Amino acid sequence: MSATTTAASDKTKSYIPLAGGASDGWSKEDEATATCFCGAVQLAFPTQGPGFIDSFICNCTDCRKITASMFASNFVVADTHLTHIRGELKTFAQSRTIASGGLMTNYFCPNCGTLMYRRGSGFPGHSIMRIGTVDDFNLHETKLFPRVEQFTKDRVSWFKGVEGVRQVEGSAYSSKKTPSSSKV
Ligand SMILES: [Zn+2]
Ligand SMILES: [Zn+2]
Repeated sequence: MSATTTAASDKTKSYIPLAGGASDGWSKEDEATATCFCGAVQLAFPTQGPGFIDSFICNCTDCRKITASMFASNFVVADTHLTHIRGELKTFAQSRTIASGGLMTNYFCPNCGTLMYRRGSGFPGHSIMRIGTVDDFNLHETKLFPRVEQFTKDRVSWFKGVEGVRQVEGSAYSSKKTPSSSKV
């Protein structure tokens, strides 16, 4: 019997509910798709190393504004392992709200506006993707489960954070190898 809710789904299998214009998302052992809301843009990304780098929650003010929500749920992949299956992306770049002063480029679906990923000048060769764009909802709770929650100092008061996840007041990434000293 197939599951009809995220909570009831068998976490050892794929769970791809109708959540946008496309219904051709997929999930394999080491790779899965991320699709925009209208379905025009679809990407394939690695769900494990070496292409899969990290997964994190960010409460910073920049993330709150760009997601139109209270926090961003992100994961980082190496660009060498990111495949553009279809769709052109529109970009918008600025550095004003980035703590490091580095340029952050945002890649959107020009049709529906879904933010698919961001690329920071302080973190070359990597894309910061969005967990919510991933078609297999079970991955949100398994392989993409956040490993750290950062900028807790900017967290909205009614959200108490992700239980059992390392909490960092500011940026969790200070070395140059990680998603930058910037807010991401
Ligand atoms: Zn779209
Ligand atoms: Zn952020």
